[in-house]
Amino acid sequence: MLTTDPHDDDKFHEECGVFGVWNHADAAALTALGLHALQHRGQEASGIVSLAGGGTFHQHRGLGLVGDNFGDAKVMAGLPGRAAVGHNRYATTGETALRNVQPLYADFEFGGFAVGHNGNLTNAGVLRRALVKRGCLFQSSTDSEVFVHLIAISLYSTVLDRLIDALKQVQGAYSLVGLHNGALIGVRDPSGVRPLVLGSLANAAGAPTWILASETCALDIVGAEFVRDIDPGEIVVIDDSGLRSVKPFETQPSRFCIFEYIYFARPDSVMEGTGVYEARKRIGAELARESHVAADVVVPVPDSGVPAAMGYAAQAGVPYELGIIRNHYVGRTFIEPTDQIRHLGVKLKHSANRAMLDGKRVVLVDDSIVRGTTSRKIVEMVRQAGAAEVHMRISSPPTTHSCFYGIDTPSRRQLLAAQHDVAAMARLIGVDSLAFISLDGLYRALGQPGRNAAQPQFCDACFTGDYAIPLTDWPAESARELQVSK
Ligand code: SF4
Repeated sequence: MLTTDPHDDDKFHEECGVFGVWNHADAAALTALGLHALQHRGQEASGIVSLAGGGTFHQHRGLGLVGDNFGDAKVMAGLPGRAAVGHNRYATTGETALRNVQPLYADFEFGGFAVGHNGNLTNAGVLRRALVKRGCLFQSSTDSEVFVHLIAISLYSTVLDRLIDALKQVQGAYSLVGLHNGALIGVRDPSGVRPLVLGSLANAAGAPTWILASETCALDIVGAEFVRDIDPGEIVVIDDSGLRSVKPFETQPSRFCIFEYIYFARPDSVMEGTGVYEARKRIGAELARESHVAADVVVPVPDSGVPAAMGYAAQAGVPYELGIIRNHYVGRTFIEPTDQIRHLGVKLKHSANRAMLDGKRVVLVDDSIVRGTTSRKIVEMVRQAGAAEVHMRISSPPTTHSCFYGIDTPSRRQLLAAQHDVAAMARLIGVDSLAFISLDGLYRALGQPGRNAAQPQFCDACFTGDYAIPLTDWPAESARELQVSK
């Protein structure tokens, strides 16, 4: 197939968004709206579990987009109750099958419990093998099910103590929303790699409606006020008596994913006090300070390169133009290509705006280069539209390592920057020059004096190989691949 599969766009992919509501008459409807705002974090499947009176849980999960799964009034009528949790899935572990769609739900001695997880556990394989040996029967192939079994076998009596017991055994990145008959629970892993925010809605009935969400854009869509980020290592328990915060883990340095600012998060979200859109513009400006070249026009690779290109153009004093137009209305697959038209694939999504490119020295701004396949095709398209020179500027440092903390990335062998230096990459992509923002420049754009090598302020492992959370599930052979040298 000539494809526009979003998985085939040569980008790192965020996977999974979570949302939770406590104390609202339309809890499931709010959750569907929140998941819709978080659609960029996962498009393969979505699910909602609601809690109605008497501790009855209702659930609906489906493959595909939120609108496809929750656009039907009958489906929504089947999700009654004043509390709900929801999840968007982009598979990193476990194949795409309905049994892997979250929130996962299980009946325990204490009643039902639903959980949705954004992130990736790095010791899930080891834990799973041990649990299977003890007789646990896994229903899915996702790493998230490990939480369910660890809670089930815990010897503690309260739900919170069982959850803490489970969390103390897992390693990795996780932002969780959980729901049991009595509370909505939100958790961020001790390094705070993935985001989770708290919001509230005034409620005529008195007590506020509480919202948990991966990003603030999901608070905005339901009209909720941003209250605060959940802290790394924090568990919030929300029930009818209010909100309680528990911090049961040893304090660890925060390692929030720096790539959220570069690409994953929606530009209108605010993460850890920093507006994503403004951050991307500052990254673009820093990129221009570091590596501007004489040019007639600055062109973003849409959509993700847009704010960085705006910042770049403003800093460089060069006109910003939409030299590439993105078609938003293409399905995942299109037509069966013959050899003669296979090369046209990229044009399904991107078209050159010849009037802005012909005879011009073009600076193309994109957020990252993964395999380099799409970059090469876009550069070729820009040249065919008459560009006199094409200079590519990238608003992230070279992605030399895979992510093991909840982002879908190719293996190191497939990462162009893991295999080639910048000059060789420029030749392969076919540009006149290529430059990436420096790691220190990226940190500066995010308000830091630079990267603190002794204690980095963010997770930046895909640029540095500095994995702060152990990669327990990756055996020696994989470790060698992790070490692949240029
Ligand atoms: Fe984010 Fe990269 Fe760290 Fe993964 S390795 S969490 S993509 S910064």
